[in-house]
Amino acid sequence: MKWNILITGGRVIDPYSGIDGVRDVAITGNKIAEIGENLPQDQADLVIDASDKIVTPGLIDLHVHNYTARGNRPSVDSDSTNMAYGVTTALDAGTATPSEYPHYWESDIQNTKVRLYSLVRMPDPYGPDPSSVGEVSDLITSYDTLLGVKFHHSQHFSSLPLAREAVDFGGGILMCEAYGAPIPQLLDWMNPGDILTHTFHAAFRFPIFDHRGQLWSKIWDAKERGVFLDIGHGARGFAFRTMEQALSQGFKPDTISTDVHVGNIDGPVYDMPTTMSKMLAIGLSLNDVIEMSTQIPARALMQEKELGSLAVGTVADVVISNMDQGSFTYLDVLHEERAAKEKFSPETVIYSGNIYDGDKFQPGEMSHKHDAPPGFILTET
Ligand SMILES: [Zn+2]
Repeated sequence: MKWNILITGGRVIDPYSGIDGVRDVAITGNKIAEIGENLPQDQADLVIDASDKIVTPGLIDLHVHNYTARGNRPSVDSDSTNMAYGVTTALDAGTATPSEYPHYWESDIQNTKVRLYSLVRMPDPYGPDPSSVGEVSDLITSYDTLLGVKFHHSQHFSSLPLAREAVDFGGGILMCEAYGAPIPQLLDWMNPGDILTHTFHAAFRFPIFDHRGQLWSKIWDAKERGVFLDIGHGARGFAFRTMEQALSQGFKPDTISTDVHVGNIDGPVYDMPTTMSKMLAIGLSLNDVIEMSTQIPARALMQEKELGSLAVGTVADVVISNMDQGSFTYLDVLHEERAAKEKFSPETVIYSGNIYDGDKFQPGEMSHKHDAPPGFILTET
């Protein structure tokens, strides 16, 4: 047979290739072999009927925590929380310190089915594990899976110049949390290709708006320079009202990510498709949402030629999804609600030409509701 898998009749949305229409997608081995209309079904070992479904590249989540072998919070299992929900490639956002990284690689990264890249957390210079800039940049150059450094909001600002230096020497990228320092000051340390995560956070400090409620000019400047403005939903990182205020000023995010971990997987984050559905609920188009979950994060990972698209010759990561219809209520970190009639819901996940048939994390009760950090408490109105 010419092809291993042929996906027929679905609405293919591939922003990289500029396709939004009914197409067939053929896979041979681990590559996309062909894409077109009415491809011959007798040329494939397996035919999947995707009529009335949406066919997209595998999703890419730029903010996860999957160092489960560390044995303490906050990590979650990568296959049942990423792959099962359509995420074929993910970026672990600094769960491991530099000294933990070899263990992380051996225990989790090489054993998971998901294509798992990562960042290390730059230790504080006066902390218990003051790894030097040289050690961190050496790690980045030694591991293909290690792409750079994360600056966490709890860290001392003095670690930021060291993180900058380490990624510059190691040829990596820097991810900063938007509530880690005053936004204009933080962005001064960020270069094209770096990622600002939790961009649309709940403004308990260091908001993305100035005192007049306008986006800092440096936010606009950062987008112009090629800094990726990322969602990073998490337990504190995404508020509908922040996003809506930014959208009203004509400003959209670059990438959608979850920051899913044990503290938010039972709500309000749940998973990548739920996070994407929230973006649809507040007015982003389906094409935008797919682009922010495939092509643009692939660019952020410097993998745009291989991942995040259905172009012929690229890696065969494909997701076949339903757009469920009904009444859905979405929650943000402030426990504010938005109602919607649709939910993006992956059904079949193909990773590198193989259909994923493993377990799926089943959320329990929404456990996060009364656990908001100080400053998030809503008054009765
Ligand atoms: Zn995180």
